[in-house]
Amino acid sequence: MIPAVMPTYKRCGIALERGEGVYVYDTDGRRYLDFLAGIAVNSLGHAHPHLVGALTEQANRLWHCSNIFEIPGQERLAERLVAATFADTAFFANSGAEAIECGIKMIRKYHHEAGNPEKYSIICVSDAFHGRTLTTIFAAGQEKLVKGFGPAVPGFNHVAFGNLNELRAAITDETAGILVEPVQGEGGIRAADDDYLAGLRKTADEFGLLLMYDEVQCGVGRTGKLFYHEWSGAAPDIMAIAKGIGGGFPVGACLATERAASGMTAGTHGSTFGGNPLAMAIGNAVLDVVLEEGFLDRVNQVADVLWQRLEALVAAHPKVFTAISGRGLMIGVTCAVPNQEMIAGLREAGLLVGQSGGNMIRLLPPLTIDEAHVHEAVGILESVSRAWKHAA
Ligand SMILES: *Cc1c(COP(=O)(O)O)cnc(C)c1O
Repeated sequence: MIPAVMPTYKRCGIALERGEGVYVYDTDGRRYLDFLAGIAVNSLGHAHPHLVGALTEQANRLWHCSNIFEIPGQERLAERLVAATFADTAFFANSGAEAIECGIKMIRKYHHEAGNPEKYSIICVSDAFHGRTLTTIFAAGQEKLVKGFGPAVPGFNHVAFGNLNELRAAITDETAGILVEPVQGEGGIRAADDDYLAGLRKTADEFGLLLMYDEVQCGVGRTGKLFYHEWSGAAPDIMAIAKGIGGGFPVGACLATERAASGMTAGTHGSTFGGNPLAMAIGNAVLDVVLEEGFLDRVNQVADVLWQRLEALVAAHPKVFTAISGRGLMIGVTCAVPNQEMIAGLREAGLLVGQSGGNMIRLLPPLTIDEAHVHEAVGILESVSRAWKHAA
């Protein structure tokens, strides 16, 4: 008999009941160090006093109103995102996939308005992940996402991540844009290098394409800059964000330049819940913390310590771990042992981590971790590695 909850998730058998800072507690009272953070969602950890304050304060005022009304919190969050990024304007959604969908619509509308409706196709890359809506699974293109959900949504073709020559060769008269995660999350943690992003920018300009980044996972301070692409200086025309900007509350946004968004006039796009006062109060509260002087410096400092300790761990246990990838606090550790067994072993030992493609475990701790949390986490990784059956 099918469970009452549609069985689309493989669950690990633990129910989390409460969280405090970097720790979560299950229904049996067991404590875990949370280096998964809701897959980069709980960017400020659990029950952060500033977020709890913003949530409860707004909850006592107004949760929701239609987008037919002015929403001051939305204007404030948009203005702050615009001030802090390449963007001139922002649309608010409730999830990453919706933010991506907005960007895809924007790319098509831009070329339509420019008198080129035949330009509708977007070049995407291998091992991508952009969400689970019908359109975003075909944008990602991975077999495991799309199998059984055909016919394919048209308008996406795929080239290898990191390969500019292949991308340039794939451009046709129908090509409208490029969509890339600057740090791939689900398909294996892979950080684009500066040259690749600069090359994407240059190619987009050369062929009149709109460049869209999916920073749903790698954005909002995760890599030590507010957005990952800032490391390279190669800004996009459009960028989808979500996950970390809500700190655990569903918030997504699609940021864009004035030019890219020029077709998005009244009535062209919308969302019932998107940008509601409660979501905006929390998004603004997350930004209060992340934009605070010194916050990202601390992320970079603690990330440096974590990387050093992980490099030593991998060197000490070559039969368990083989490589580290990513940037800042978005880290993949490639396993020589089955990653699912490693994840279960770490959980048993009190450390929560995620999985990623390429037999990786994925570390996405709250941005608020300190060095003591790093040492605690790596201590657990050490002891689980040492105890690993048949591995040194
Ligand atoms: C999580 C994620 C998405 C989808 O976000 P949802 O909120 O689940 O729709 C899209 N892109 C990337 C890179 C993600 O990590």
